[in-house]
Amino acid sequence: MKSSAQVVVIGGGVVGASVLFHLTELGWTDVVLVERKELTAGSTWHAAGGMHTLNGDPNVAKLQQYTVGLYREIEQRSGRNCGIHMSGGLTLAGDRERMDWLRMAQARGRYLGIDMEIISPAEAKQLFPLLEEQYFVGALFDPAEGHVDPTGVTWAYATCARQAGAEIYQHTWVSDLRQRPDGTWDVITDGGEIHAEHIVNAGGLWAREVGRMIGLELPVLAMEHMYLITEDMAEVAEYNAVTGRDLPMGMDFDGELYIRQEGGGMLLGTYEQACVPWSPRQTPWTFDQQLLTPDLDRIAPSLEVAFKHYPALASAGIKNVINGPFTFAADGNPLVGPVPGVRNCWAACAVMAGLSQGGGVGLTLAHWMVDGDPGEDIWAMDVARFGSWANLAYTNAKVRENYSRRFRITFPNEELPAGRPLHTTPVYDRLTAHNAVWGASFGLEHPLWFQRAGEEPREDVSFRRSNAFPVVAEECEMVRERVGLTECSNFAKYRVTGAGAADWLQGLFTNRLPRVGRINLTAALDPDGHIVGEFSVARVGTDDFFLFGSQIAEAHHSRWFGGHLADGVRFDVLALSVVGLSLAGPGARDVLQSVTEASLATEDYPFMTFRRIDIGMIPAYVGRMTYTGDLGYEIWVAPEYQRALFDLLWQAGQPYGIGLFGFRALMSLRMEKMFGTWAREYRPIYTPVQARMNRSLKLDHDFIGRAAVEAELARGPARTLGYFDITPEPAEPADVVGDEPIWHDGAVVGWVTSGAYAHYSRRSLAFGYVPTELAVPGAMFEVEIIGQRRPARLLFEPVLDPAGQRMRA
Ligand SMILES: Cc1cc2nc3c(=O)[nH]c(=O)nc-3n(C[C@H](O)[C@H](O)[C@H](O)COP(=O)(O)OP(=O)(O)OC[C@H]3O[C@@H](n4cnc5c(N)ncnc54)[C@H](O)[C@@H]3O)c2cc1C
Repeated sequence: MKSSAQVVVIGGGVVGASVLFHLTELGWTDVVLVERKELTAGSTWHAAGGMHTLNGDPNVAKLQQYTVGLYREIEQRSGRNCGIHMSGGLTLAGDRERMDWLRMAQARGRYLGIDMEIISPAEAKQLFPLLEEQYFVGALFDPAEGHVDPTGVTWAYATCARQAGAEIYQHTWVSDLRQRPDGTWDVITDGGEIHAEHIVNAGGLWAREVGRMIGLELPVLAMEHMYLITEDMAEVAEYNAVTGRDLPMGMDFDGELYIRQEGGGMLLGTYEQACVPWSPRQTPWTFDQQLLTPDLDRIAPSLEVAFKHYPALASAGIKNVINGPFTFAADGNPLVGPVPGVRNCWAACAVMAGLSQGGGVGLTLAHWMVDGDPGEDIWAMDVARFGSWANLAYTNAKVRENYSRRFRITFPNEELPAGRPLHTTPVYDRLTAHNAVWGASFGLEHPLWFQRAGEEPREDVSFRRSNAFPVVAEECEMVRERVGLTECSNFAKYRVTGAGAADWLQGLFTNRLPRVGRINLTAALDPDGHIVGEFSVARVGTDDFFLFGSQIAEAHHSRWFGGHLADGVRFDVLALSVVGLSLAGPGARDVLQSVTEASLATEDYPFMTFRRIDIGMIPAYVGRMTYTGDLGYEIWVAPEYQRALFDLLWQAGQPYGIGLFGFRALMSLRMEKMFGTWAREYRPIYTPVQARMNRSLKLDHDFIGRAAVEAELARGPARTLGYFDITPEPAEPADVVGDEPIWHDGAVVGWVTSGAYAHYSRRSLAFGYVPTELAVPGAMFEVEIIGQRRPARLLFEPVLDPAGQRMRA
């Protein structure tokens, strides 16, 4: 065994093997993989081997597409049989909503180059004669689906990696991990110690236990999962004989099941409602290529549906029932990337579909380690999308919810209930009493909208407009014409202090720092000029700043700031030690002025001022800005003051017709002001030049990524963020939800990042990226919304108040 290596990958399942392979592909060959038993001994060996590209997140779908496309290459290079069956796959919809979902998935696939076809039940029956077409309204056919042999694939990755110089130690258990002061690792195994620069946790079923070796509690949990294999079936033999090919795979939403050919019979797997976590607290190290006791009663409801939808199965004998554990993260996507707060420690775990996703996980992680950037948009898989609040109990609740909804649709306006409410601010009860409909993000409850008095505070889930629509319209009107109050605690808040803080931030930010008492907007970039963050920067002293950013990115951005920290500078995550309320609308100043001694006249407190003032008896930091684009204030206080602040403003606002508004109205209001948002318009795959962040980009100082920005400005950006007006509306209106394709001249040329109905302007609006040469104001495009291509005019100015007079009033 080597005593040192650049990287030690812990775990020899399909994911660890893929990471090892991809590291060698990128030229890191002093790499080893350590496996406690034999390769595949965790969950990989008993996987059903199914692979597909379909995923709710198009970026994850892209990585799945990459994975599926890799198998022929590694099979050929390694000489290991991967058992590739490219039978194609059908996703079967039993009702209109599921059909809508499939249409949207097909549309999203278009701009990624994933070609999928919507077919009728009769066409589905032709492709898959075992099904009863009366139970379906249509299907999506994806030719790039099939199944592989999980063991063959794992060994193919491993063999290719070995050919490039990697070493693999089987029957070697990593029992401890110790970090040296220089950030390198001593990997303690029962076969000796390896000193490594980097470690990768690809521990699969034991990823949680490997994390615990260094004090981490990763949000990952194993679930029992069953599939059964039938005896050979005459119907299968006949299909094979007539067509000369295998039956395609089937995913059946109604039965929460998947079905495919296995040998001369069929394999049927279920995601049952009565799901059961496996080893919820501690995975035993003694578990080794074992299966769990099957429990057919538990999956009986799914089997009933299966026998109805595929009657031939009812009379087929069952040859084998497999029950095995595999892992999920709290939201069902993998945990990939640098572990926040731990140097040189990488995650590649919670991969619930290792045969669909393992290649993409390995590719992006290897790029991240070697190049410092994953190279693809992997926001949905970043290990930093959870905070430390995602503990064992939270993960357990969320994973069970997720497992039992594996084939369910989660609507764009749907808020899932498990693990909630978790974080609430002091005004939670006040807002609940005002009939708030709650959503949750990064563990925190935030009001989406306020149901009318006497009606149930509940939103109907839909791809179209919900019962919230008319109420949100009223909220928007109230803000634009009178004054609205909302909670704004769901920003990430940071404080940066210490000698050198200003110099440090200036070297990170694309905009000049504001003067003391002012606030401005900025971006932070990576060296290649991609947007790593978008922040409001408020300066309260020479070397004293508040930063406000996207809450869902709190761990992600803290990791980035932490990785760049300069000596003498202190970076604190304020989390819920600071909470906020926001007043917006033409009456906002009058309301606030009535409860403070500080003069709020524009000459004393102009737009983009940020100061410490008292509101009544409450000490607050008040920024004169809001995301609504109106005259408004964001008021930041310690949590113990928030209820008093709410009561004070609510009472002071009564003569001005104050009302409450929520996140849905905010999203509508920001759309008509053309304000972009993090994770949608601004993501690490875009640049500030493409995103037209001109006002935050000042080339008069040095900052990370500046050279790349200058180079892009010189050659011109390949794509540009557009702002689309998708009015007029069809008979059955629907607005974009994000990721819809944008058409031009009969071809897909771009994609939507986000959008909403702008109630006050009465327009359906969207943001989206298109090739720069097409980005001409007034140009006509089409945006595909639930299978309908709708005319969309490209604008470069907000539809409301382009000169920004409302916020400066
Ligand atoms: C019944 C069933 C059917 C499935 N069907 C499919 C399917 O059709 N398609 C699909 O894509 N996925 C399927 N899966 C899921 C798939 O099995 C997983 O996504 C995949 O196996 C995850 O691989 P992994 O490498 O992350 O984890 P694992 O396979 O669990 O590998 C982790 C490895 O790390 C080793 N290890 C852990 N800790 C240490 C340590 N301290 N020292 C040394 N070694 C260590 C373990 O021994 C293990 O071999 C199925 C799973 C089950 C249970």
